[in-house]
Amino acid sequence: MRPAYALIDLSALRHNYRLAKRLTGCNALAVVKANAYGHGALECAAALNEDADGFAVAAIEEALALREAGHRQPIVLLEGWFEAAELELICRHDLWPVVHHHGQLADLREANLSRPLQVWLKLDSGMHRTGFSPVEYPQIWRELQASNKVASLTKITHFARADEPETGRTEEQLETFAQATAGLDGPASLSNSAGVLAWPSAYGDWVRPGIMLYGSSPFDFAQEQAAQLRPVMQLDSRVIAVHNIAAGEPIGYGSRFVTRRASRIGVVAMGYADGYPRHAPDGTPVLVDGQRTCISGRVSMDMLTVDLTGLPGSGLGSHVRLWGDGLDAGEVASHAGTISYQLFCNLNRVPRRYQV
Ligand SMILES: *Cc1c(COP(=O)(O)O)cnc(C)c1O
Repeated sequence: MRPAYALIDLSALRHNYRLAKRLTGCNALAVVKANAYGHGALECAAALNEDADGFAVAAIEEALALREAGHRQPIVLLEGWFEAAELELICRHDLWPVVHHHGQLADLREANLSRPLQVWLKLDSGMHRTGFSPVEYPQIWRELQASNKVASLTKITHFARADEPETGRTEEQLETFAQATAGLDGPASLSNSAGVLAWPSAYGDWVRPGIMLYGSSPFDFAQEQAAQLRPVMQLDSRVIAVHNIAAGEPIGYGSRFVTRRASRIGVVAMGYADGYPRHAPDGTPVLVDGQRTCISGRVSMDMLTVDLTGLPGSGLGSHVRLWGDGLDAGEVASHAGTISYQLFCNLNRVPRRYQV
Protein backbone atom coordinates (compact mmCIF):
# COMPACT_ATOMS: atom_id res chain seq x y z
CA MET A 1 0.00 0.00 0.00
CA ARG A 2 1.15 3.51 -0.75
CA PRO A 3 2.69 4.86 2.44
CA ALA A 4 1.18 8.37 2.26
CA TYR A 5 -1.47 9.28 4.81
CA ALA A 6 -2.73 12.00 7.12
CA LEU A 7 -2.86 11.09 10.77
CA ILE A 8 -5.53 13.12 12.59
CA ASP A 9 -5.05 13.50 16.33
CA LEU A 10 -8.53 13.99 17.79
CA SER A 11 -7.30 14.57 21.32
CA ALA A 12 -5.26 17.53 20.00
CA LEU A 13 -8.47 18.80 18.37
CA ARG A 14 -10.28 18.65 21.72
CA HIS A 15 -7.34 20.32 23.44
CA ASN A 16 -7.49 23.21 20.96
CA TYR A 17 -11.25 23.61 21.27
CA ARG A 18 -10.95 23.70 25.06
CA LEU A 19 -8.21 26.30 24.74
CA ALA A 20 -10.62 28.53 22.81
CA LYS A 21 -13.20 28.06 25.56
CA ARG A 22 -10.69 28.63 28.35
CA LEU A 23 -9.23 31.79 26.82
CA THR A 24 -12.58 33.40 26.14
CA GLY A 25 -15.08 31.93 28.58
CA CYS A 26 -17.58 32.23 25.71
CA ASN A 27 -19.77 29.86 23.83
CA ALA A 28 -17.70 28.58 20.94
CA LEU A 29 -18.87 27.45 17.52
CA ALA A 30 -16.46 24.84 16.21
CA VAL A 31 -15.99 25.88 12.58
CA VAL A 32 -16.05 22.64 10.59
CA LYS A 33 -16.74 24.02 7.11
CA ALA A 34 -14.87 22.62 4.10
CA ASN A 35 -14.77 19.15 5.63
CA ALA A 36 -13.27 20.58 8.82
CA TYR A 37 -10.47 22.27 6.86
CA GLY A 38 -9.64 18.92 5.29
CA HIS A 39 -9.59 17.02 8.58
CA GLY A 40 -12.92 15.22 8.09
CA ALA A 41 -16.04 17.06 9.31
CA LEU A 42 -17.94 14.07 10.67
CA GLU A 43 -14.98 12.63 12.53
CA CYS A 44 -14.04 16.02 13.98
CA ALA A 45 -17.62 16.83 14.96
CA ALA A 46 -17.95 13.45 16.64
CA ALA A 47 -14.74 14.05 18.59
CA LEU A 48 -16.03 17.47 19.71
CA ASN A 49 -19.62 16.45 20.31
CA GLU A 50 -19.42 16.35 24.10
CA ASP A 51 -17.69 19.73 24.29
CA ALA A 52 -19.02 21.78 21.43
CA ASP A 53 -21.58 24.50 22.13
CA GLY A 54 -22.33 24.53 18.42
CA PHE A 55 -20.88 24.20 14.95
CA ALA A 56 -20.45 26.58 12.03
CA VAL A 57 -20.46 25.59 8.38
CA ALA A 58 -20.50 27.33 5.00
CA ALA A 59 -23.63 25.78 3.56
CA ILE A 60 -26.72 23.76 4.31
CA GLU A 61 -25.24 20.62 2.71
CA GLU A 62 -22.55 20.61 5.39
CA ALA A 63 -25.11 21.25 8.12
CA LEU A 64 -27.44 18.44 7.04
CA ALA A 65 -24.56 15.96 7.15
CA LEU A 66 -23.99 16.95 10.79
CA ARG A 67 -27.68 16.59 11.61
CA GLU A 68 -27.76 13.18 9.92
CA ALA A 69 -24.82 12.15 12.08
CA GLY A 70 -26.96 12.99 15.10
CA HIS A 71 -25.53 16.33 16.23
CA ARG A 72 -28.22 18.32 18.00
CA GLN A 73 -26.25 21.47 18.82
CA PRO A 74 -26.86 24.82 17.15
CA ILE A 75 -25.40 24.93 13.64
CA VAL A 76 -24.72 28.35 12.15
CA LEU A 77 -24.80 28.71 8.36
CA LEU A 78 -22.08 31.32 7.87
CA GLU A 79 -23.53 32.57 4.57
CA GLY A 80 -27.14 31.72 5.34
CA TRP A 81 -29.11 30.35 2.41
CA PHE A 82 -28.21 30.61 -1.26
CA GLU A 83 -31.75 30.08 -2.52
CA ALA A 84 -35.08 30.55 -0.79
CA ALA A 85 -35.96 26.89 -1.26
CA GLU A 86 -33.49 26.09 1.53
CA LEU A 87 -35.60 27.90 4.11
CA GLU A 88 -37.89 24.97 4.70
CA LEU A 89 -34.97 22.69 5.54
CA ILE A 90 -33.42 25.40 7.68
CA CYS A 91 -36.62 25.46 9.75
CA ARG A 92 -37.04 21.73 9.87
CA HIS A 93 -33.50 21.12 11.07
CA ASP A 94 -33.35 24.18 13.28
CA LEU A 95 -30.30 25.68 11.56
CA TRP A 96 -29.20 29.20 12.43
CA PRO A 97 -28.66 31.23 9.26
CA VAL A 98 -26.54 34.32 8.88
CA VAL A 99 -28.50 36.98 6.99
CA HIS A 100 -26.10 39.26 5.16
CA HIS A 101 -27.74 40.82 2.09
CA HIS A 102 -30.98 42.32 0.84
CA GLY A 103 -31.91 39.36 -1.32
CA GLN A 104 -32.14 37.26 1.81
CA LEU A 105 -34.32 39.88 3.51
CA ALA A 106 -36.68 39.73 0.55
CA ASP A 107 -36.75 35.93 0.73
CA LEU A 108 -37.62 36.17 4.39
CA ARG A 109 -40.46 38.62 3.81
CA GLU A 110 -42.01 36.31 1.24
CA ALA A 111 -41.41 33.03 3.02
CA ASN A 112 -43.98 30.88 4.74
CA LEU A 113 -41.96 29.47 7.60
CA SER A 114 -43.01 26.51 9.72
CA ARG A 115 -41.34 28.21 12.65
CA PRO A 116 -39.49 31.45 13.32
CA LEU A 117 -35.74 31.55 12.66
CA GLN A 118 -32.74 32.18 14.89
CA VAL A 119 -31.10 34.81 12.71
CA TRP A 120 -27.47 35.93 12.89
CA LEU A 121 -27.56 39.39 11.33
CA LYS A 122 -24.28 40.28 9.70
CA LEU A 123 -22.74 43.72 9.99
CA ASP A 124 -20.08 44.78 7.51
CA SER A 125 -17.79 46.50 9.98
CA GLY A 126 -15.08 47.09 7.40
CA MET A 127 -14.06 43.88 5.66
CA HIS A 128 -16.46 44.67 2.82
CA ARG A 129 -17.17 41.09 1.90
CA THR A 130 -20.56 40.31 3.42
CA GLY A 131 -22.96 42.11 5.70
CA PHE A 132 -25.12 45.20 5.91
CA SER A 133 -23.52 48.62 6.15
CA PRO A 134 -23.38 50.32 9.56
CA VAL A 135 -25.83 52.92 8.28
CA GLU A 136 -28.60 50.48 7.35
CA TYR A 137 -27.92 47.87 10.05
CA PRO A 138 -29.97 49.26 12.98
CA GLN A 139 -33.10 49.67 10.89
CA ILE A 140 -32.85 46.15 9.46
CA TRP A 141 -32.25 44.81 12.94
CA ARG A 142 -35.42 46.52 14.19
CA GLU A 143 -37.44 45.30 11.23
CA LEU A 144 -36.38 41.71 11.89
CA GLN A 145 -36.93 42.03 15.60
CA ALA A 146 -40.51 43.06 14.93
CA SER A 147 -41.03 40.24 12.43
CA ASN A 148 -42.91 37.13 13.49
CA LYS A 149 -40.53 35.17 11.27
CA VAL A 150 -37.60 35.78 13.57
CA ALA A 151 -37.31 34.11 16.96
CA SER A 152 -34.05 35.74 18.03
CA LEU A 153 -31.30 37.93 16.65
CA THR A 154 -27.56 37.62 17.14
CA LYS A 155 -25.21 40.33 15.93
CA ILE A 156 -22.30 39.03 13.91
CA THR A 157 -19.33 40.61 12.18
CA HIS A 158 -16.00 39.36 10.87
CA PHE A 159 -12.46 40.76 11.05
CA ALA A 160 -10.27 41.26 8.01
CA ARG A 161 -6.94 41.70 9.80
CA ALA A 162 -7.22 40.26 13.32
CA ASP A 163 -4.04 38.31 12.53
CA GLU A 164 -2.15 41.58 12.04
CA PRO A 165 -2.55 43.39 15.38
CA GLU A 166 -0.23 46.24 14.43
CA THR A 167 -2.43 47.52 11.63
CA GLY A 168 -5.07 49.14 13.82
CA ARG A 169 -7.77 47.78 11.55
CA THR A 170 -9.39 45.55 14.17
CA GLU A 171 -9.77 48.48 16.58
CA GLU A 172 -11.52 50.36 13.77
CA GLN A 173 -13.84 47.45 13.09
CA LEU A 174 -14.60 47.10 16.81
CA GLU A 175 -15.46 50.78 16.99
CA THR A 176 -17.73 50.51 13.93
CA PHE A 177 -19.41 47.47 15.46
CA ALA A 178 -19.99 49.25 18.78
CA GLN A 179 -21.52 52.28 17.08
CA ALA A 180 -23.71 50.39 14.61
CA THR A 181 -25.09 48.04 17.27
CA ALA A 182 -25.48 50.54 20.11
CA GLY A 183 -28.82 49.97 21.79
CA LEU A 184 -29.49 46.73 19.90
CA ASP A 185 -29.57 44.13 22.61
CA GLY A 186 -28.96 40.42 22.21
CA PRO A 187 -25.86 38.29 21.84
CA ALA A 188 -22.86 39.19 19.66
CA SER A 189 -20.27 37.17 17.75
CA LEU A 190 -17.09 38.76 16.45
CA SER A 191 -14.01 36.60 16.74
CA ASN A 192 -12.42 34.04 14.47
CA SER A 193 -9.28 32.23 15.68
CA ALA A 194 -7.10 35.34 15.55
CA GLY A 195 -9.72 37.17 17.61
CA VAL A 196 -9.85 34.36 20.16
CA LEU A 197 -6.08 34.30 20.50
CA ALA A 198 -5.27 37.99 20.43
CA TRP A 199 -8.35 40.18 20.94
CA PRO A 200 -9.94 39.80 24.40
CA SER A 201 -11.93 42.98 23.76
CA ALA A 202 -13.71 41.17 20.89
CA TYR A 203 -15.00 38.07 22.61
CA GLY A 204 -18.71 38.89 22.70
CA ASP A 205 -21.01 35.94 23.50
CA TRP A 206 -20.06 33.46 20.77
CA VAL A 207 -16.62 32.98 19.28
CA ARG A 208 -15.96 31.17 15.98
CA PRO A 209 -12.62 29.38 16.11
CA GLY A 210 -11.63 27.60 12.89
CA ILE A 211 -7.95 27.21 12.06
CA MET A 212 -6.90 27.15 15.71
CA LEU A 213 -8.99 24.01 16.29
CA TYR A 214 -6.70 22.27 13.83
CA GLY A 215 -3.66 23.44 15.74
CA SER A 216 -2.36 25.97 13.27
CA SER A 217 -1.70 29.57 14.17
CA PRO A 218 -3.37 32.32 12.16
CA PHE A 219 -0.35 34.56 12.86
CA ASP A 220 2.87 34.68 10.90
CA PHE A 221 4.79 35.54 14.07
CA ALA A 222 5.28 33.76 17.39
CA GLN A 223 2.27 34.45 19.59
CA GLU A 224 1.87 33.50 23.23
CA GLN A 225 -1.60 31.97 23.13
CA ALA A 226 -1.05 30.29 19.77
CA ALA A 227 2.00 28.57 21.26
CA GLN A 228 -0.41 26.46 23.31
CA LEU A 229 -2.01 24.90 20.23
CA ARG A 230 -1.30 21.30 19.30
CA PRO A 231 -1.13 20.32 15.61
CA VAL A 232 -3.93 17.95 14.66
CA MET A 233 -2.78 16.73 11.25
CA GLN A 234 0.46 14.87 10.58
CA LEU A 235 0.99 14.48 6.85
CA ASP A 236 3.35 11.54 6.53
CA SER A 237 4.88 9.31 3.91
CA ARG A 238 8.06 7.35 3.19
CA VAL A 239 11.12 7.39 0.98
CA ILE A 240 10.36 4.97 -1.87
CA ALA A 241 13.67 5.23 -3.81
CA VAL A 242 17.15 6.69 -3.31
CA HIS A 243 19.63 7.78 -5.96
CA ASN A 244 23.24 8.92 -5.85
CA ILE A 245 23.50 11.81 -8.29
CA ALA A 246 26.72 13.51 -9.42
CA ALA A 247 27.23 17.25 -8.99
CA GLY A 248 25.74 19.41 -11.70
CA GLU A 249 22.84 17.10 -12.56
CA PRO A 250 19.22 18.26 -12.83
CA ILE A 251 16.46 16.63 -10.77
CA GLY A 252 12.84 16.29 -11.88
CA TYR A 253 10.55 18.21 -14.24
CA GLY A 254 11.90 21.31 -15.81
CA SER A 255 15.32 20.65 -14.27
CA ARG A 256 14.48 23.26 -11.69
CA PHE A 257 17.00 21.95 -9.17
CA VAL A 258 20.59 21.19 -10.17
CA THR A 259 22.85 19.41 -7.67
CA ARG A 260 25.71 21.57 -6.44
CA ARG A 261 27.58 18.59 -5.03
CA ALA A 262 27.45 14.82 -5.30
CA SER A 263 24.04 14.18 -3.70
CA ARG A 264 21.80 11.48 -2.33
CA ILE A 265 18.29 12.23 -3.47
CA GLY A 266 15.28 10.54 -1.88
CA VAL A 267 12.00 10.08 -3.74
CA VAL A 268 8.96 10.48 -1.48
CA ALA A 269 5.45 9.16 -2.15
CA MET A 270 3.70 12.54 -1.95
CA GLY A 271 2.73 14.92 -4.71
CA TYR A 272 0.38 17.67 -5.72
CA ALA A 273 -2.41 15.14 -6.33
CA ASP A 274 -2.28 14.58 -2.58
CA GLY A 275 -2.59 18.30 -1.97
CA TYR A 276 1.07 19.00 -1.35
CA PRO A 277 1.66 22.42 -2.95
CA ARG A 278 3.23 22.19 -6.40
CA HIS A 279 4.62 25.67 -5.86
CA ALA A 280 6.80 24.58 -2.94
CA PRO A 281 10.24 25.84 -3.98
CA ASP A 282 13.59 24.13 -3.46
CA GLY A 283 14.44 24.60 0.20
CA THR A 284 10.90 23.98 1.53
CA PRO A 285 11.46 22.06 4.78
CA VAL A 286 10.64 18.37 5.23
CA LEU A 287 11.41 16.01 8.12
CA VAL A 288 13.08 12.71 7.30
CA ASP A 289 13.31 10.42 10.31
CA GLY A 290 12.64 13.51 12.39
CA GLN A 291 15.50 15.52 10.89
CA ARG A 292 15.08 18.60 8.76
CA THR A 293 16.01 18.57 5.14
CA CYS A 294 14.33 20.08 2.12
CA ILE A 295 12.57 19.70 -1.20
CA SER A 296 15.00 19.57 -4.12
CA GLY A 297 13.29 19.61 -7.49
CA ARG A 298 9.79 20.39 -8.64
CA VAL A 299 6.93 18.59 -6.89
CA SER A 300 5.22 16.21 -9.30
CA MET A 301 1.78 14.61 -9.17
CA ASP A 302 2.58 11.56 -7.06
CA MET A 303 6.14 12.12 -5.89
CA LEU A 304 8.56 14.70 -4.68
CA THR A 305 12.31 14.64 -4.17
CA VAL A 306 14.30 15.54 -1.06
CA ASP A 307 17.98 15.95 -0.33
CA LEU A 308 19.32 13.11 1.85
CA THR A 309 22.99 14.01 1.42
CA GLY A 310 23.34 15.24 4.99
CA LEU A 311 21.34 12.34 6.43
CA PRO A 312 23.49 9.24 5.91
CA GLY A 313 21.35 7.24 8.33
CA SER A 314 18.23 7.76 6.22
CA GLY A 315 17.29 6.01 3.04
CA LEU A 316 14.80 3.65 1.50
CA GLY A 317 11.75 3.32 3.74
CA SER A 318 12.64 6.30 5.93
CA HIS A 319 9.73 8.11 7.55
CA VAL A 320 8.92 11.49 5.99
CA ARG A 321 6.80 14.19 7.58
CA LEU A 322 5.54 16.91 5.27
CA TRP A 323 3.91 18.84 8.13
CA GLY A 324 2.62 18.22 11.66
CA ASP A 325 4.42 17.74 14.97
CA GLY A 326 7.94 19.08 14.56
CA LEU A 327 7.23 20.93 11.31
CA ASP A 328 4.60 23.65 11.38
CA ALA A 329 2.22 23.61 8.41
CA GLY A 330 2.35 27.41 8.48
CA GLU A 331 6.07 27.34 7.80
CA VAL A 332 5.64 25.00 4.84
CA ALA A 333 2.81 27.20 3.61
CA SER A 334 4.85 30.38 3.76
CA HIS A 335 7.58 28.76 1.63
CA ALA A 336 4.91 27.89 -0.91
CA GLY A 337 3.39 31.39 -0.83
CA THR A 338 0.16 30.35 0.84
CA ILE A 339 -1.37 29.70 4.28
CA SER A 340 -1.89 26.53 6.29
CA TYR A 341 -5.66 26.83 5.70
CA GLN A 342 -5.15 26.16 2.01
CA LEU A 343 -2.71 23.30 2.55
CA PHE A 344 -5.23 21.56 4.80
CA CYS A 345 -8.23 22.20 2.56
CA ASN A 346 -6.37 20.97 -0.52
CA LEU A 347 -5.65 17.62 1.04
CA ASN A 348 -6.72 14.99 -1.43
CA ARG A 349 -6.31 11.28 -2.13
CA VAL A 350 -4.28 10.54 1.01
CA PRO A 351 -6.31 8.44 3.45
CA ARG A 352 -7.01 9.98 6.83
CA ARG A 353 -6.33 7.85 9.88
CA TYR A 354 -7.79 8.87 13.20
CA GLN A 355 -6.17 8.71 16.57
CA VAL A 356 -8.50 9.13 19.56
C1 LIG B 1 -14.20 30.55 8.32
C2 LIG B 1 -14.78 31.54 9.24
C3 LIG B 1 -14.37 31.60 10.58
C4 LIG B 1 -13.18 30.81 11.12
O1 LIG B 1 -12.00 31.52 10.77
P1 LIG B 1 -10.56 31.03 11.28
O2 LIG B 1 -9.63 32.10 10.80
O3 LIG B 1 -10.31 29.72 10.61
O4 LIG B 1 -10.65 30.91 12.75
C5 LIG B 1 -15.04 32.45 11.44
N1 LIG B 1 -16.05 33.23 10.99
C6 LIG B 1 -16.45 33.23 9.70
C7 LIG B 1 -17.55 34.14 9.27
C8 LIG B 1 -15.82 32.41 8.77
O5 LIG B 1 -16.20 32.42 7.51
